[in-house]
Amino acid sequence: MNKTVLITGSSRGIGFGIAKRLKSSGYDIILHGKSNSIELQNAQKELNAKALIFDVANTNECKNILDEFAKSNPALWGIVLNAGITNDNTFLALEESDWKSVIDTNLNSFYNVLNPLLMPIARKKEGRIVVISSVSGIIGNRGQSNYSASKAGLIGAAKSLAIELASRNITVNVVAPGLIQTELTQDKNLPIEEILKLIPAKRSGSVDEVSGLVNFLLSDEASYITKQVIGVNGGLC
Ligand code: NDP
Repeated sequence: MNKTVLITGSSRGIGFGIAKRLKSSGYDIILHGKSNSIELQNAQKELNAKALIFDVANTNECKNILDEFAKSNPALWGIVLNAGITNDNTFLALEESDWKSVIDTNLNSFYNVLNPLLMPIARKKEGRIVVISSVSGIIGNRGQSNYSASKAGLIGAAKSLAIELASRNITVNVVAPGLIQTELTQDKNLPIEEILKLIPAKRSGSVDEVSGLVNFLLSDEASYITKQVIGVNGGLC
C-alpha cells in the first residue's frame, strides 16, 4: 500500500492496538514512546516496525527529532495523536504540576508533533490526521478538570486544522473514547462500578473497538469525513 502512519504513544494500550490494526490493514507503521521501554521494544518486535522516541510534551525535543525525520523521509500518510496521560484530582486539590503536565502532554503535543510534520503532508495534498480525545473532554468528569480541558482543547484545535487542510485532501478527525480497558484505567482510585452504571451499554469498551474506527478514518473510504468528533463510548454521551 506504501502509506506510512505514525501513532504516538503506541508502546501499549490503545496506541499499540491502533498500530496492530493498521499494520494488519497493510500500512507501514511507525511506533512511538516517551522512552525506549521494554514495552516499546516488545511492540517493535511483535509488529516488526520502526519506532521514534520523544517526549510529546517537550517542544524542542519534538522539533529536533521530527524536523530531522521529515527531512529524511517521504511525507507521512497519517498521524494518530494518541499519547496521553491523566493526573486526576479534584480541582481544589490539584497541584500546578498536575495541571501543567496534563496540558503539556495531551494538548500542547498537538502543536509539538503536528507542526514539524505537517508541511510535507500539506505539499503532497493528501493525508489523514486522527486525534484521540476523550468523552471527558465533551461532558467533563469529576477529578479531571486538567484532563477534560486538554481533551476539549484538542477538539477545538482539530476542528480548526480540519478547516485549514480540507482543500488539500487532508482530513482531521477526533475519536473520543469512553471507558476503555487499558493500563490508564487500572488506577485503583477510579470508581469503575460507579462509571459502569452511567454507561448505557453497561460495560467498558475494548481497544479493538477504538482501533477499528481509527482504521476506517485512515482509509480511502473516509475521504469526505473531516472535522468530526466520533465517540466510542457505549452511549455514555
Ligand atoms: P496508556 O497509559 O496505556 O498508554 C499511553 C501511551 O502514551 C504510552 O505509549 C506512553 O508511552 C505514551 N505517552 C504518555 N506520555 C507521553 C509523553 N510525554 N511523550 C511520549 N509518549 C507518551 O494509555 P491508553 O492507551 O489508555 O490511552 C491512550 C489515549 O487514549 C490517551 O490519549 C488517553 O487519554 C485516551 N483515552 C483513553 C481512555 C481509556 O479509557 N483508556 C478513554 C478515553 C481516552 P511510554 O510508555 O513511553 O510512557
